[in-house]
Amino acid sequence: MLNNNTTVPTYDVVIAGTGVSGLYAALNVDPSLSILIVSKRELELSNSALAQGGIAAVLDRDKDSREKHIRDTLIAGGYKNKLEAVEVLVDEGPRDVRRLIELGVDFDRDSLGRLHMTLEGGHSINRIVHHKDTTGLEVVQKLAAHVKNKNNITVMENAAIMKMDKIDGGFCLGILKDGGLLNVCSRYAILATGGIGRVYKYTTNSKIATGDGIVLAHRLGAKVSGLSLIQFHPTAFAAREERERFLISESVRGEGAYLLNCRGERFMPSYDERGELAPRDVVSRCIMEESKRTGSEDFYLDITAQDPEFVKKRFPSIYSKCLAEGIDITKDRIPVFPCQHYLMGGIDVDTYSRTSVGRLYAVGECSRTGVHGNNRLASNSLLEALVFSRRAALDISERVRNEENTLRPRALFEMKKGKPLPTGIRSEVRSIVQSSFFVNPNFDAAKKGLARVCELDDMLEHTEFEYSLDLLEAKSLVKIAKLILTEVTDESFQL
Ligand SMILES: Cc1cc2nc3c(=O)[nH]c(=O)nc-3n(C[C@H](O)[C@H](O)[C@H](O)COP(=O)(O)OP(=O)(O)OC[C@H]3O[C@@H](n4cnc5c(N)ncnc54)[C@H](O)[C@@H]3O)c2cc1C
Repeated sequence: MLNNNTTVPTYDVVIAGTGVSGLYAALNVDPSLSILIVSKRELELSNSALAQGGIAAVLDRDKDSREKHIRDTLIAGGYKNKLEAVEVLVDEGPRDVRRLIELGVDFDRDSLGRLHMTLEGGHSINRIVHHKDTTGLEVVQKLAAHVKNKNNITVMENAAIMKMDKIDGGFCLGILKDGGLLNVCSRYAILATGGIGRVYKYTTNSKIATGDGIVLAHRLGAKVSGLSLIQFHPTAFAAREERERFLISESVRGEGAYLLNCRGERFMPSYDERGELAPRDVVSRCIMEESKRTGSEDFYLDITAQDPEFVKKRFPSIYSKCLAEGIDITKDRIPVFPCQHYLMGGIDVDTYSRTSVGRLYAVGECSRTGVHGNNRLASNSLLEALVFSRRAALDISERVRNEENTLRPRALFEMKKGKPLPTGIRSEVRSIVQSSFFVNPNFDAAKKGLARVCELDDMLEHTEFEYSLDLLEAKSLVKIAKLILTEVTDESFQL
């Protein structure tokens, strides 16, 4: 039985996630409000911390323009983007990048002290600011240092939100922490829980990416859509045994690398006049076509024509990671193959990141602002995480100023000590999704896969299993797989 005589910890805002979107939201909420920010594992374990290429923004108005950035975003997204959201992104993004600089983020500069801007696929001009090839980690570390210094913000690591429900004036959340389930209440909640990559066998995503926030929102009745809008990055390091594949950033192609087939031939120009710098979905599909044509899955990225010293300085992390695999990228071709990378769909939000559930916001990769359309333009994701998390934070702050606090805190959840979770569920789901929809859909596999995933979902929902991180993630992955395969098997599905 729950003991509601005990005091439930209560905050104005709970933020689920310590990636760029969660951390930046926390820094933008009115400092007079109390905030709890939680991360499922260690604070720096996130997709944000893995981001290499950089952040796209119109910072040089002499050469670049909002119209160009908007056009590039729309072309990459197949004109399926929400124009209003794209305009907000492009118009407000430069301000947030400048704010990062004020917060101490050290973007690379040229010998004259000007920001170094690189090029990536789908961009018509160099507009991507970066910190070597470890931009995400730099941003996360700088934002985290500020968050930890704020008196109004409590940071909780290794704390996974497993349950969430509406109560009068806000939410009650059940957080798995130190083997127990902690009840916490808040007036507002921001989901910043990242992507879904771990529903695939091979992904560039970190192990937190199991779609928990999307599933929590879905259970609360929030509108969730576009789960089959998945981006497959064309150039992940082809270590086929590894689940988490190391990304060879698009900016390597931006700095002149060519894609080669198993015969060492450059093939992209014969498929698309933009060559290696076509948008990601195009390059990934061309690789799959070329694979069929040559009967081989061996593909390479070749940057050996570039000055070795430049390559080592510009891509220190990629250089050392490849070296550890026996590949010296200044001399050798890098084996690459497409793999799951990013989710364009998610929890539907408006341009203030409000979901369809009152007081619930979603930001970053778990949200669907509509800026990316059917395919995200490179380096627009961190920008989206910044712009729309700030807007969520400001909207909440404004609403709190203008309303009475009606929160009635109470504990809703208790720890369950049921059966242990059977092993193998997550691996099975990953195999199903990988074989049903990887770059191109396999409709037969998707139909069979959906039937099996529905069985697993039913079993997980109706059996009393002991609460654990494993259970939370297995349930999330099964539900995410169900949402993806439901869309893929729908008659209206098209790429
Ligand atoms: C290898 C790689 C390279 C990339 N490079 C770029 C790039 O150069 N430029 C660009 O714009 N984008 C890039 N992206 C995409 C971009 O990094 C992500 O889309 C973005 O960082 C997502 O940020 P986020 O804050 O939404 O989520 P994340 O950074 O993934 O953070 C999610 C947070 O939610 C927490 N969480 C999850 N579930 C729970 C739960 N149940 N309870 C509590 N906490 C939870 C996690 O612990 C984590 O703290 C890259 C992605 C990858 C994987």
